[in-house]
Amino acid sequence: MQFEDAYKEVYEIVKPKYKLFTAGPVACFPEVLEIMKVQMFSHRAKEYKEIHVDTLKRLSDFLEAKNGEIILFPSSGTAFMEAAVRNTIPRGGKVLVTIIGAFGKRFKEVVEANGRKAITLEYEPGKAVKPEDLDEALKKNPDVEAVTITYNETSTGVLNPLPELAKVVKEHDKLLFVDAVSAMGGADIKFDEWGIDLVFGSSQKAFGVPPGLAVAAVSERVFEIAEKMEEKGWYLDLPLYKKFNATKKGTPSTPPMPQIFGLNVVLRIIEKMGGKEEWLGMYAKRSQMIREGVKEMGLSVLAEPGYESPTITAVVVPEGMKGEDVYNTMRERGFELAKGYGAGIKEKTFRIGNMGYMTFEDIQEMLSNLREVIEELKD
Ligand SMILES: *Cc1c(COP(=O)(O)O)cnc(C)c1O
Repeated sequence: MQFEDAYKEVYEIVKPKYKLFTAGPVACFPEVLEIMKVQMFSHRAKEYKEIHVDTLKRLSDFLEAKNGEIILFPSSGTAFMEAAVRNTIPRGGKVLVTIIGAFGKRFKEVVEANGRKAITLEYEPGKAVKPEDLDEALKKNPDVEAVTITYNETSTGVLNPLPELAKVVKEHDKLLFVDAVSAMGGADIKFDEWGIDLVFGSSQKAFGVPPGLAVAAVSERVFEIAEKMEEKGWYLDLPLYKKFNATKKGTPSTPPMPQIFGLNVVLRIIEKMGGKEEWLGMYAKRSQMIREGVKEMGLSVLAEPGYESPTITAVVVPEGMKGEDVYNTMRERGFELAKGYGAGIKEKTFRIGNMGYMTFEDIQEMLSNLREVIEELKD
């Protein structure tokens, strides 16, 4: 490398200093980082096409989406909120937005920012959406066209009961949009069986890949509506992506190729680990270890029992302690957790993510440091 100094100057700033238990971006598998270093080439070359098609196939299997089309967006996950709305809901149309935390609120903002109307079903932090409430809200608002659900609310560490909620949405014959950004790769998704219309995730969460790639499975019904939708724009035109999958084996504009190679590596790692069940079992075990660990310290978990997230835990700090102090002190010890996030809980909580590349030993080490930090801060 002729300009190694240039590399070193940047490396000094961004070099890894912490063990990550973040909400995303998360630590990546070394195999992922390795493949992302390869020299670039044209995204219309046959080598890219091979990886593109293989990634679609592997994602389709992972999400159990035989009846859906897999779409790769050169963007972060939020773009799919906008795409869902713009491709299916006419201007002024109504969407029932369920809110159990900050990311449910974001979906509402996206609906409204695009000139559509949001009807909300909102819960206090730590609670999950209940199927009977959703049923009632849909009975009261028969004119909504779609329902949005945050599968895993990253701000509160709550996993919504998606299969039960999806059933209610189908009974009312509405479109179902699922924000699975912090769930995809860490919690099960059965696209066909649950009758989802659009479910999206981001590379930088439970897949453990750098940011810049969004992934979704989209139903035939969405494409039928989208084909006739006016003013859906170009960049987020879902039928256009479907067409490019089929004809060009690629995306309409240039995709983040390194991230797609990285994701493909992760999907192969999952297969080599024994498949989806093994992989999701690992996530369940990681999060359980964290919940048990913090409870042993006398701390409580924000999520109501039975709805705990497999990818992130929001921990309530004792009276008189600040979540941010826990975050900062752990950082001094070389562990990056996540700060509390969202109205009313920012100060009172901190969060421990268990997404991406980490070992069970890393979790134990983090927990024993956390135990000491909590004791220190009590004094
Ligand atoms: C991180 C996150 C988002 C935002 O994803 P981006 O990739 O940053 O756009 C949305 N929803 C949830 C549940 C998240 O955890």
